[in-house]
Amino acid sequence: MHLEDSYPFLACQKIFYNIQPPSSIVRSIDEEFKKAAEFHGHICPGLAIGYRVAKYAKEHYPRSKDEELVAIVENKSCSVDAIQEVLSCTYGKGNLITNDFGKQVFTFYSRNQDKAMRIYFKGSVFGEMDKLRQKFAKGELSEKEQQDFAALREQAVQKILTAPNEELLSVTHVGIQAPEKARIYPTLRCQECGEGFMEVLGRVANGKVVCKSCYEKMIC
Ligand SMILES: [Zn+2]
Ligand SMILES: [Zn+2]
Repeated sequence: MHLEDSYPFLACQKIFYNIQPPSSIVRSIDEEFKKAAEFHGHICPGLAIGYRVAKYAKEHYPRSKDEELVAIVENKSCSVDAIQEVLSCTYGKGNLITNDFGKQVFTFYSRNQDKAMRIYFKGSVFGEMDKLRQKFAKGELSEKEQQDFAALREQAVQKILTAPNEELLSVTHVGIQAPEKARIYPTLRCQECGEGFMEVLGRVANGKVVCKSCYEKMIC
């Protein structure tokens, strides 16, 4: 079972463990992983994937104070939260770009160094979990299967946290164009609702300059 075959699992919305991890994986985690788990809300294989990717990237590029490091992520899954916490490539600062191809691929571009690194998480870590996962999603796991599933997830987290980089990550240095920087636009006041909005996102409806949410209501 390859990771890409089991992609839906990665978009986990379920609580796998609470913040206090099982003792079997306590030994494999450090402060940074704990912080990522706090930020994400739970510990799961997806978070562990993002953590390993982020740790590797951090050996080459420092954590981003502002937007000097840009992460281009090819999925919207738990792993991205570890990228945000560990590298401070965040949605809010605009140095986190999502191209959702449903792949555990992460490209990091350093504005300071004008170079980029692409990391594909190739680790095959889910083993027999797939069948149980399908049943889990439908809420059809028996009590015994629930226990098995929890144990397998724990093993997957453990494996992701401890396997050597070569087993998990496929890294290439790539040339990419510098991503556009987050821009700051003037604020306009919507002539319909009176709330301020970013000028570039304005619309004109019935001769008024309005925000996008009013526009959508007005044209319906
Ligand atoms: Zn998760
Ligand atoms: Zn409005």
